Amino acid sequence: MNHIETRIHNELQELEKSGGLRKLPDIIHDGKFVTIKDGKYSSPMLNLSSNDYLGIASEKEIQEDFLTNSRIADIPFTSSSSRLLSGNYQIYQETESLIAKKFERESSLLLGSGYQMNTGILPAIADKNTLVLADKLVHASIIDGIRLTGSQCIRFRHQDYEQLEMLVKKYYNSYSSIIIITESIFSMDGDVADLKLLSEIKRKYPIVMLYVDEAHGIGVRGERGLGVAEEQGCINDIDFLCGTLGKALASAGAYVVCSSDVRQYLINKMRPFIFTTALPPVNIAWTGYIFSRLEEWNNRRKHLSLISRMVKDKITSMGINCISDSHIIPFMLGSNEKAIAASELMQKEGYYVLPIRQPTVPAGSERLRFSLTASVTVNEVNNLNDKIETII
Ligand SMILES: *Cc1c(COP(=O)(O)O)cnc(C)c1O
Repeated sequence: MNHIETRIHNELQELEKSGGLRKLPDIIHDGKFVTIKDGKYSSPMLNLSSNDYLGIASEKEIQEDFLTNSRIADIPFTSSSSRLLSGNYQIYQETESLIAKKFERESSLLLGSGYQMNTGILPAIADKNTLVLADKLVHASIIDGIRLTGSQCIRFRHQDYEQLEMLVKKYYNSYSSIIIITESIFSMDGDVADLKLLSEIKRKYPIVMLYVDEAHGIGVRGERGLGVAEEQGCINDIDFLCGTLGKALASAGAYVVCSSDVRQYLINKMRPFIFTTALPPVNIAWTGYIFSRLEEWNNRRKHLSLISRMVKDKITSMGINCISDSHIIPFMLGSNEKAIAASELMQKEGYYVLPIRQPTVPAGSERLRFSLTASVTVNEVNNLNDKIETII
């Protein structure tokens, strides 16, 4: 074996030994249930690790409605090209107009994935005279994007907006622009950013721009399902209002809602937009279909909020601190072993809940992560809560 092969082999063995080796689970899906093939527990488990927050992906009727009403046979399954070459099908612009209209903003741009969005927008817009101020707990894709900018970046303490404003003041005269980056609902703790307050900071300091990743907020929050920005009434204050389409919206890809100048600029400068084959038109049609129906699903949002509250209340009643204010609910356990044991227990009881270990979360904050969807019933949550009680 050559050097690289030896290293790969040894590292894999070390990972295996330490219990940190990741493997692709062999999953069979049946609506909101999953079965792990050749797993320890052969019966179907309620899927509490899905990002299908509105329960749309697991509901065949919605997909069937789309298939019968959208002349699917006429829509290509591939774009065969980057949008800058021959891949720019009409459906892209139609869907982007629809999204912009929903948000009542100038424009929007569809992107290949949330990962491409976060690794592409930042390097395109930030330069040497830009300071990036990012919440300590932002997603790995944002971190990767910041790395690619070459701009100076400071991570402020999670949701500590006093520290953030202090940093803005301190560096105000040293940079020509400052970009503040946050998620709206944080992916591991489920707590919600105060976008209203961030908007106020932005208004106070004209060189500040706001970049918000609504991966876990879009679809789930707001009367019209447009996310935490809608809920908190600050859609217009966010310069880069980003979201992903593979979670609550049951599709794939991502979008940024922005000014038409920013859109035009990204089309020219954003490498993961330029040098990639555009998503299949059929997928874009589905995304447009979902966006057009988003307002209808308020009862799902309300239900999700209700059952989330029930699970959170159960966890807090056990004396465990839980800062979640959403459908993502951590149960803090504090070590890999405990998190794994708790996950095994839940799976044995029929709930597919996964342990979150370091390095995904900081050491000492290992946890179970419940990710609820609107297809989970109150009855199922009551039964789940009885089992949660047996975790410690
Ligand atoms: C899931 C996620 C992404 C990545 O989106 P994909 O479309 O899956 O690539 C980006 N940001 C956050 C906060 C996410 O949770």
